[in-house]
Parts: sequence; structure tokens; C-alpha cells
Amino acid sequence: MVMISKGNVSDLTFFRGRVALYAILKAMGIGKGDEVAMQAFTCLAVPEAILSVGACPIYVDIAPRGFNIDPADLAKKITPRMKAIIVQHTYGIPAEMDTLCLLASNKGIPIIEDCCHTLVGTYNARELGSFGVASFYSFEWGKPLVAGIGGSAIINDPYLIKKVKSGYSGYRMPDLITRLKIEFQYFAFGILYNPSNYWILKDAFHKLSSLGILKSNYNIINRERIPEDFYYVMSNCVKKRLISGLNSVEAFEKHSKYVAEKYREKIISPIFVHPNPVVNSRIVYARYPLLTKNKNVILAKARKANVEISDWYFSPVHPLKIDECSIVDYIVGSCPNAEQRSQEVITLPTNSRVREKDIDRIVNLLNGYKHEASI
Ligand SMILES: *Cc1c(COP(=O)(O)O)cnc(C)c1O
Repeated sequence: MVMISKGNVSDLTFFRGRVALYAILKAMGIGKGDEVAMQAFTCLAVPEAILSVGACPIYVDIAPRGFNIDPADLAKKITPRMKAIIVQHTYGIPAEMDTLCLLASNKGIPIIEDCCHTLVGTYNARELGSFGVASFYSFEWGKPLVAGIGGSAIINDPYLIKKVKSGYSGYRMPDLITRLKIEFQYFAFGILYNPSNYWILKDAFHKLSSLGILKSNYNIINRERIPEDFYYVMSNCVKKRLISGLNSVEAFEKHSKYVAEKYREKIISPIFVHPNPVVNSRIVYARYPLLTKNKNVILAKARKANVEISDWYFSPVHPLKIDECSIVDYIVGSCPNAEQRSQEVITLPTNSRVREKDIDRIVNLLNGYKHEASI
């Protein structure tokens, strides 16, 4: 099989992943009156970018099994106004690109790949990020490669690349305070993070970002005013770290695979459903997802025991609560699989800080739960 190589992920850098998406949408000429398809079971950053160009997000359900867009539901939602389809490879698991590419090309609608959870995954021996007209990436905390706050775009279409590049000079460096916050956050994270203090750090981050001391992951949605973020490129310090971080992608991949295999082998409690393998694909998990009917109880136990098990996504548009999703035009009940999956999913860390003892603590907590439940 021919390996299609996508461009360099450090060439076209932006302040965040969503800003890269925004730049792609703008270069495609997408704006008012246009529709952009995206999956429910994602993060707020995606509809934020769509709304920021003035277009409407069309929420497509995820497949009855799995975490990625359902081609059948997408087919039902396509209209003549749909100008792009965003395909997300959730947790690093490749979406069904064969079916999706066929559907999209039949309808003449370009695909943009959301590669924020995957740098080096493949589908049918072809690199994720090389299927669509463009793909975008994120390098903040929780992503495969952490460089601070930042994102980038890879453009596969020769016409589109000219458009993106000509718009690029309109973006500027983030202001000094923002850059300092990012540097502070990056170094504090580097010193403090390991899986056994995940909950403490997460709580502290939320507290400090709600006070404006740290740069939050999410903006308040205001349709009258585009957030400052959308005017910025990636800062130089972040870019340097991104470029040097790209040298250790192989090590990350190896470690992530090792950790995921351990989870698959050791978590044997029948109350958890492991992710399905995808044939002829290389999956590098950004996080390892499990499904369970006991999500909330397990998260409470994990918090109490200082074990890193996370809740994302806990709604179709994380971190909005289900009844807040209408802020970004999501209609409750419109994507039942996404709603159900967000009630059932827990995710386990696979990053380079995860040591054998962290794997054991996670495994013991999860396997231990079975005994209690069966008493
Ligand atoms: C993180 C993330 C984004 C956005 O990245 P930012 O850099 O925070 O803008 C988009 N899509 C998915 C699936 C993500 O996980």
C-alpha cells in the first residue's frame, strides 16, 4: 500500500487548534448561510470555530458503536448549503474514511480532518490527516504532543494552501501577558503533572482559569464578538517546543501503545467495554476509552483515590452540560448515540508520564469495582 505523506505539522501554526480550523474555513470561503457538518461528542472548540466564521454547525451523530461520526446519519443531514464536513478521529481512533470519502466526494463536499487526538495514526495504511482537503491539530494539555497552547493546519489542496497562506499575514503574535501565561502554565504543568495528582491539578486549573489567572481552554460563546484567540498565531516559544517535540513522536507512539495494550490485557472486569480494533490501521490512543454503566460512581472513586480517570466527553459538546448545548445550536435529543456515549465513557491516560505503578493503580481500581458491585 502506498503511504501518503501529509505535510509538516509545524509549518502553518496558529494560536490554537480551533484557530487553525477557523483559518481553513475562512480560506474555503465559508461564512454566513453555510452549513458545516461535525460530530456531536466533541469539544466546544469545534462549533466555536464554525460560529466564528458565521456558519452553522450541523451536528451529526456518532456511530451506534464507537466514538466517530456515523456515515449513515451524515448522509441524512447533507443539504445543498453544506460546505464542509469535519471528520474527527476521536481518541486517535480513525473514522471510517472509506465510506466518508465516498459519500463526501459523491456530494462534492470537502472533508476537513480534526486530528487533534492523532499525529501518526493510519487508516488503510494511509496517514490520518491526508484524506481531506485539510486537517488541523492541537498541542495543549491532553493532546498527543504538548507544547503549551497551540494548533496547526496541514493543507492538502494546492488551491486552498495559497488561500490559507495569503490570509496568514492577518494573524499576529499573542500579547505579552497571554504568552507569559502560556509559558507559566506549560512549565507548571511539566513540573507538577503526573497521573496521581491529575484531579488536584485539574481542580486548580479550573479555579485559576475562571479567575483569569491562567488561560482557559474554553471561551464564553458570544456571537457578536469573535474572541481575541482567533487573531493570533502560535507564539515562538510554543513553536520551538513543537518542533523539538516532533522528534519524540515515535517514543510517544511506542509508549502509548504499550500502555494501551496493558489496559486491554489487564482490565478484565466485565463491566467495561474495550474499544474495537480497526483493521489495517495504526491506532495511537491519545487516551484509552472504556464504556461502563457506572461512569459517575467510578469517577467519584477515582477522584477520591487520586487515580487519573477522566470524564471527557461528558456531553455532546464538552464541557457544556447537556442543557447548555443549545448555546452552540445543539438540539437535545438530536444525536442519541453521542448523548448515550457521553454518559458511558471514561478515558485513561496513555501519555509519557504514565508509569507501571499508575497503570496498576488504574487497573486495580477498575477491576476492584466489579467485586463491590457484585456483593
Ligand atoms: C482540543 C481539541 C480541539 C481544539 O483544540 P484547541 O487547541 O483547544 O483549540 C478540537 N477538536 C478536538 C477533538 C480537540 O480535542
